[in-house]
Amino acid sequence: MLPHSHIALTLLAFDLARRRFRQLNRLDMRLVALATSVPDLVDKPLAALYFYRRFKAAMLFAHTLLAQLLVVYFTLTKMPQHWPYALAFLFHGVQDRFWLFRDTFWWPLRGWRFHVWRKQGSEQRDIQRAYWYAFTRRPELWVWEVLGFLALLAFVLLNRLYQPARLWQLIRDGHLPE
Ligand SMILES: [Zn+2]
Repeated sequence: MLPHSHIALTLLAFDLARRRFRQLNRLDMRLVALATSVPDLVDKPLAALYFYRRFKAAMLFAHTLLAQLLVVYFTLTKMPQHWPYALAFLFHGVQDRFWLFRDTFWWPLRGWRFHVWRKQGSEQRDIQRAYWYAFTRRPELWVWEVLGFLALLAFVLLNRLYQPARLWQLIRDGHLPE
């Protein structure tokens, strides 16, 4: 799933939740967007730099069950008040359905290797070409991106972010306008 789809789905989920649980209004939505992007911000550069060439893998350490458990553990023990941001981090893995990528999910219990991308056309030597091939030859991947786009649309409409002043407030202080 592409980064903006992760952000849109997580922001919409938090937006719907804050309408029910008012204390979530205190959250900085910019940090929610950042937290849900962390797994890719950590793993994609590592993949581009080394691991894709070595393992043909783009989901690495931050997409492991171990990383999720460490994030939950550190959040609950060191800064429990920030649990919503840990939840945003966990949402990323759920949206990636990361349990399907077993070598990465269970890493390092199944060995030191990471999940290898499916060979049908997507296992290219270069990571950018791999993404291009995956997206042009596997239309089912687009379903998730369409969902991401619909989530973004719903988020914008629900919060009337098409009004520049409201959008600016969100960008400036991270809180959704009332
Ligand atoms: Zn990811």
